[in-house]
Parts: sequence; C-alpha cells; structure tokens
Amino acid sequence: MSAKGHDFGRAAARSLDDRESRAILDKAIHHIDLLRQRSVSAMPDFAARRARAVAVRQHSLDHLPELLETLEASVTAAGGQVHFATDAPQAAAIVTGILTARGVRLAVKGKSMVSEEIGLNAALGAAGIEAVETDLGEYIIQLAGQTPSHILAPALHVSKEQVSDLFRDKLGRTSTDIPEMTRIARDSLRRKFLAAEAGITGCNIAIAATGTVVVLENEGNIRLSASCPPVHVALMSLEKVVATLHDAAAVLDILPPSATGQTLPVHLSFFTGSRRDGERDGPTDMHLVILDNGRSDILADPVLRDILRCIRCGACLNVCPVYQAVGGHAYGAVYPGPMGSVLSGLLAGAAGDPRQPFACTHCAACAGACPAGIDHPRLLQELRRRLAAGHADPAAAAFAALARHPWLFDGAAAVARRVDPELSRTAALAPDSAVGRFLRGRRFPGLARPFSRRWREAAKRPANAGKGERS
Ligand code: SF4
Repeated sequence: MSAKGHDFGRAAARSLDDRESRAILDKAIHHIDLLRQRSVSAMPDFAARRARAVAVRQHSLDHLPELLETLEASVTAAGGQVHFATDAPQAAAIVTGILTARGVRLAVKGKSMVSEEIGLNAALGAAGIEAVETDLGEYIIQLAGQTPSHILAPALHVSKEQVSDLFRDKLGRTSTDIPEMTRIARDSLRRKFLAAEAGITGCNIAIAATGTVVVLENEGNIRLSASCPPVHVALMSLEKVVATLHDAAAVLDILPPSATGQTLPVHLSFFTGSRRDGERDGPTDMHLVILDNGRSDILADPVLRDILRCIRCGACLNVCPVYQAVGGHAYGAVYPGPMGSVLSGLLAGAAGDPRQPFACTHCAACAGACPAGIDHPRLLQELRRRLAAGHADPAAAAFAALARHPWLFDGAAAVARRVDPELSRTAALAPDSAVGRFLRGRRFPGLARPFSRRWREAAKRPANAGKGERS
C-alpha cells in the first residue's frame, strides 16, 4: 500500500474484471501502435533520426541549468515572464495567482500532463476560476469527471457510445456519428474560446535560444487557447528544454511518428513571448511556468536520470503488456505505463503504488519502441533493487534455499505439482485471495516436471529414446 493508499494489485484486478473497458482499450491501443509501426518502418533512416534525437535530449540533460537560464532570458526578451516552481502546489499557486491578479473567471486549456501533475483544475476551481479542457479527449474526460488514462489519448478507454450518452446527459445533444459528435463538442467549446480571459497550454519542447514554446496537436484547440485570450500561460517540466531550433527539429523528427504515426501533426505551433507592436493577434500577457517537482533530484541520479529524456510520445504504454491488460487508471498516477512506472515514484509527492516497478514483466517491448532510447527494464530493475535493499524477501530467501539443496527442490516441486491442479479452482472460489488475484486475467499452463529429474531420467535411457518428450 502506498503512502497515498493506492494498491496497484487491487486496482489492476478491478480493471481486469471490466471486460467492456478492456475490449475498448485493446482495440484502440493496437490501432495506435499499428500506426506507429507503419510510420517508423516507412522511414529507412529512423534509427539515425532516433540517434540524433537521443543525442539532443542527452545534451539537454547534461546542460540543463545553463539552458534554463538562457530560456528565461530569451522568453523575457520576447516580452514573456518566466516562473520557476519547486513543486506541484507552488506551480498551481503561481498559475492561480497570475489569473486571479488579472480578474480571470474563465480559462480554456490545451492538453497538458503537467497541469494534471500539479492538480491545476482543482486549484483554479477552488479560486473560483472555471477551467475548460478543449482537447476533445480531455473535454470528454472532464465532462465524465475522470482523469486521463493515457498520456497522449486521455479518453482511450471510452467508447463512442459512452461518449454519446455523456453528451446527451451533459450537453443535451447526442449522436454516434463521429463527425457529428465532434461538431457537438466544437459548438460548446467555441463559445468558451471566445469568452475566455486566459488560455493555458502545455509545452512539448522549449527552445532556449529563442524562448519559443513548441506545441504539437491535431485539433487546433491549443493554438486557439494560446492566441485568442489576452493571457497565455504555458506549463512545462524543466527537462523539456533544448538548445536551438535545430535541436527542436531533431526531436520533431521522431515525436509524431512514435506518437500517432504521423510525419508531422496537423498543427505545429511556435509561440514566442507576447504580442509585439503591430501584430494583430496573440496574447498581450505571456507566462512560462517551469516545474521541477523532484526532477532536479532525478537529474542528479546517475542511473535514473535517463527517464528525463522522455518526450511523452506514449509508445511505451502502447506496447506494454501490463498497460494493455489493465489500462492507465490502475496505476493511480498521472503517468502510467513503463515511463510512469519509473517516473511517478520519483516525483515529489510521489503518486501511485511504490511497488509499481515490480509489476514489470521485463519483456523489454517498451525499450524497443522508445524513440528516446530509454532502457525502462534497466531503470525498473534498479528501482526494484533499491526498493528491496534492506527488506528481507521471504520468497527470495526460500527460493535460494531450494536452489542450494536439490533434494529439497525436488521435494517442493513434487508438492507443487500435486497442488497445481487446485490453483485454478482456488482462484475461482476465492478471487480476492493471493492466488485468485495472481491468476486473474492469466492462463496458468501448469508446472513442468523439474529439469533435474528429466535430465536424470534421460541420462538413464539409451540415446535418442527421449526425443520428442514434451517439456
Ligand atoms: S519513455 Fe520513451 S516511449 Fe515512453 S513516452 Fe517517453 S519517449 Fe515515449
């Protein structure tokens, strides 16, 4: 049980029981990953692109303090203001303070995982400011009173029929025709864009040399959020900075293909400071809030700092068998899947279950898909080692004793094989027992005969007599 009380095992068991959500998730996630695979395999130079982007991200981590200083100077020179936040409550207070001081009552928001990380909507709500999500997936999630289940596709777990019911209940209009459903959402959101006094967005990349906030999207809502209202607040975690436009291009080379299978997104926006003299639109008041929230400590860690190379493409979630089985909400944290299993527990006020790294199957599919060259299994192994240090593990001690004494191992294996057929029955009769939870969603193939015994038996048989024996 985590300090915040989240139990991944129980949450995962509940998710596994929800067959409808699993079916929706399964279909959606495989579709996204197929798009990624097609896009990446259509680029013969993808490995070279990836190597360039990894080098850029690594350079950012190696020069982070200088780059952040340059970024602050560039944003200020372009007419914006930079605010550094040590932790989530401070970041939420900074944004709330900016909006309150300007009398803002309504803010439109583009999708931002940092805003989820700092609990911004709740903080704004407490200050009497309405914050409306304008990304379609986020809008659906907000109407449903839920949290995102995926860092890229927040409503991945929701079917169009469920969205249709939601729109009927909340907006008084309904349809299961996707273009019509989009129109319903757009009609409601357009009024908000026009009335909002502030826009809040995330930041995919921040360019230190120019003070530019780069944002990728397919809906145009981020561009409207940043340019319609007079105040624009962009949120970023500190590792998102790169040195130059050229470096940003290297990241843009790999982010859309790995995220949505696109060469480029529909809208690629570069926001630099506030509106200049003679310009007809754009915010007159621009702020960049840079969040640390434990990342400086991660940066100082010689092994785990690699996770800060992440560009939030979501590819590792889509290929992870654990995420595929249980979905994002089971993680109980803003960042789910392999990247979240590493990052969530390291952030200040760590959310989720601290035992999360032990859920990894070490299949390494995440590392294979990651365009930022992050070796999640190695990082998760390191986290496991640190979590286990100083804690006696009775299961590991028992296995070590068995492994050292073959006669004991053979005896235990014989008992286990006798108990084996009972496991599935126990799981069915007591689904909340340890056996029941372990076998939920899994097929137990049964125990094979110990290798040592098979070896001894084979040694006694004439040559070739044992060929074809089933293991
Ligand atoms: S860890 Fe890698 S694959 Fe996962 S979201 Fe980050 S960049 Fe993408």
